[in-house]
Amino acid sequence: MRFTDRVALVTGGGRGIGAATAGRLASEGARVMVSDMDLEPAREVAEPIGGVAVACDVTQREQVEEMVARAVRELGRLDVLVCCAGIIRDNLLFKMTDDDWDLVIDTHLKGTFLCARAAQKAMVAQKYGKMVFLSSTSALGNRGQTNYSTAKAGLQGMARTLALELGPFNVNVNAVAPGFVETRMTRATAERMGVDFEAFKIGAASQIPLQRIGQPEDIASVIAFLCSDESSFVSGQTIYVRGGP
Ligand code: NDP
Repeated sequence: MRFTDRVALVTGGGRGIGAATAGRLASEGARVMVSDMDLEPAREVAEPIGGVAVACDVTQREQVEEMVARAVRELGRLDVLVCCAGIIRDNLLFKMTDDDWDLVIDTHLKGTFLCARAAQKAMVAQKYGKMVFLSSTSALGNRGQTNYSTAKAGLQGMARTLALELGPFNVNVNAVAPGFVETRMTRATAERMGVDFEAFKIGAASQIPLQRIGQPEDIASVIAFLCSDESSFVSGQTIYVRGGP
C-alpha cells in the first residue's frame, strides 16, 4: 500500500499502459483520476477502482488546467502525474504530412508540457510530487517514426530539465521508455503494416533477449516504483523497460 492517502492523475488512462497504471496505483491505495480523450474508456477504468473519470484532450491548455484543478478540488491534492496519452501517425519521411507531425508532437510533447506545468503548482506548494513521462525505445531511432521518435526523445530531455527545476521542491520527474507492449497502439502498427497481430508479436518477441513482448502491467509496475517513495532519490532518469538492454 505505497500510495495510501496519495492522489494520482493518469492521462491516457482509459486504455493500455495508462489503464494498467491507474489500476496498479489504486490497488496500492491511491485515489486516481483517470483521464482520457473520451469519457467512456476513462469511466470503464475508473469505476471498478473507485476513481474519478474525466475527458480531457491533453493538447488543449484550458482542458488540462481544468482537469488538474478538478483533481485538487475533488480529491484534495495531487501527488502523482503519469502522462500516458499518446498516438502514432507513422510514415516514412517523404510521405509524412504536416498533420502527422503536428498531431504526434502536440500530443506527446505539448500534452506532457501542459500537464506538468499545471500539476507542478500543487506539487510545489505541498513540497511533494512525482511525475512520470512515457518515452519509448523509439527515442533511439525507429524507421517510419520521425515524429514519434523525436517526441519520445524530447520527453527524456523534459524529464531531466524538470528534475533540475522541481527537485528543490521535492518533486521527482522521471521517464519510462517501454519497448514492444501489447496494446491497441502496437495492434494498430501491425494493421498498418498489413501483418497479422499474432505473427507480429511472435516476431517481436524473437528480437527481445527475454524472448517475450511486454504487457501493460510490466510497465505499470516500473511506473509505480517511480511514483513511490522507494525511488525518492531517483530523478531525471529514463528507465528502459524492454526485456533487454
Ligand atoms: P493506447 O493507444 O492503448 O492508449 C493511449 C491512450 O491515449 C488512448 O486511450 C488514447 O485515446 C489517448 N489519447 C490519445 N491522444 C490523446 C489526447 N490528445 N488527449 C488525451 N488522451 C489521448 O496506447 P499505449 O497504452 O500503448 O501507450 C501509452 C503510452 O506509452 C503512449 O505515450 C505511448 O506512446 C507509450 N508507449 C507505448 C508502447 C507500446 O508498445 N504500446 C511502447 C513505448 C511507449 P484514443 O484511443 O481516443 O486515441
